[in-house]
Amino acid sequence: MGPKVDTVADDTSLPAQVDVVVIGGGIIGVSTALYLSEKGLQVALCEKGHIGGEQSSRNWGWVRVTHRDMREFQLSIESLKLWRNLDAKLGINTGFTQCGILYMTAEDDAMEKHRVWLDKARNLAGDAFDTREVEGKEVASLLPGSSRKFKGGLYTPGDARAEPQKAAPAIANALRKRGVKILTPCAARGIETSGGRVSAVVTEHGAIRCDSVVVAGGAWSRLFCGNLDVDIPQLMVKASVLRTEPLEGGPTCSASDKRFAFRKRADGGYTIAAGFRTYSDLTPDSFRLFFKYIEALKSQIGSLRIGIGERFFEELRRPRRWALDRPTVFEQVRTLDPAPISEYTDAGLREFTKVFPHLSNARVAQRWAGNMDVTPDAIPVISGVDTVPGMFIGTGFSGHGFGIGPAAGKLMADLVANDTPLVEPNAFRLNRFSDGTKIVIDAGF
Ligand SMILES: Cc1cc2nc3c(=O)[nH]c(=O)nc-3n(C[C@H](O)[C@H](O)[C@H](O)COP(=O)(O)OP(=O)(O)OC[C@H]3O[C@@H](n4cnc5c(N)ncnc54)[C@H](O)[C@@H]3O)c2cc1C
Repeated sequence: MGPKVDTVADDTSLPAQVDVVVIGGGIIGVSTALYLSEKGLQVALCEKGHIGGEQSSRNWGWVRVTHRDMREFQLSIESLKLWRNLDAKLGINTGFTQCGILYMTAEDDAMEKHRVWLDKARNLAGDAFDTREVEGKEVASLLPGSSRKFKGGLYTPGDARAEPQKAAPAIANALRKRGVKILTPCAARGIETSGGRVSAVVTEHGAIRCDSVVVAGGAWSRLFCGNLDVDIPQLMVKASVLRTEPLEGGPTCSASDKRFAFRKRADGGYTIAAGFRTYSDLTPDSFRLFFKYIEALKSQIGSLRIGIGERFFEELRRPRRWALDRPTVFEQVRTLDPAPISEYTDAGLREFTKVFPHLSNARVAQRWAGNMDVTPDAIPVISGVDTVPGMFIGTGFSGHGFGIGPAAGKLMADLVANDTPLVEPNAFRLNRFSDGTKIVIDAGF
């Protein structure tokens, strides 16, 4: 079972017509709905399960500019600015706290990688961010009680955390008070077009006429869009975490080295993971998309394990085309809830207690996993669809969409409304995967 997520009351009474339908109630969907509604547009959001039920409640809760891919660096800077004002602006509590994020290391070659990233970031953004190189002594002061002597690292005091189990529901509840239709449980079955452009979204409860639709379906976006012959080369990678019972006396910044990562939680515990270790099931899509993912695979050697299991056959049996007048897989699987890999979470905890022996009484409260939607170049798609006017896609956040969620939502709203975009959107266009653009991985680390 996934973590307990703050509630948003069910509502399945559809409006007949809105300007924009947003599909998906994760951080990207609710942020998009927020900034669309601020433009005065009528918005309905459909979520098949519960708001924030999938990746957006299962993540580490890091909100960072540190070690961003340069193509999304400006977006991450803008997102931090938006996060800083979100709670006050909406009268909500997302748990946003400027806690600082530290990437520490005990090894020289990792230190060199940190420096390379910092040089690139400074060349691009000058002093618009506050990341700096720190030496072992400062790492020790940021990690009180640490038994390990780290050589140094990168530290960004302005980086932050928010509570994944609170953020998307808090935004959705605030939106509802502002008149945005938040429909849940409400699976979108598909999109109807008229004269080639979007005219309606068909849901399990009926149709909503609209001029535009934003697909922010996380790990489901590829399947959903495939029904309209819109190809998103997207795969799923599973990441596992645990949370501890409340612990006194631990570090307040979020931090990671290659073996473990942690964040202090608002409930007093820690969310802990085994660094960036992930798992991916082979599926029919892994074969269909193999050549597009060669660079990504190379960049993940050592951290990604690949296996084959029931998911292969499940997805092989799953129809890739369907009619909109009968139930779909989106109604059958309300919440994607993959089993966590305890071997990973527990390795993360072991490392945590080794580094912080005074916290060796840490007790595991819960483990869970989330399926991350990854693209071949590990940056998102925030884009209109050339072949279907009125259709937009915000997906493929590749394991780092929580932090850039608000800015991604704002950028998407700008694209839908045809306003000046928050940042240059070219890197995020969908057709980069089909127009011959070279796939480059610049994972920032
Ligand atoms: C373990 C883990 C750790 C992570 N750590 C971080 C981190 O520290 N910082 C960070 O920035 N990012 C992190 N991420 C990544 C981050 O969680 C995701 O990038 C982000 O939450 C993606 O948001 P989303 O709204 O696109 O997707 P989701 O949160 O997955 O939401 C998509 C929603 O769409 C709904 N949906 C899909 N299809 C339909 C349909 N047809 N009809 C209606 N609804 C539909 C789904 O039910 C789902 O609720 C992490 C992810 C994981 C799994």
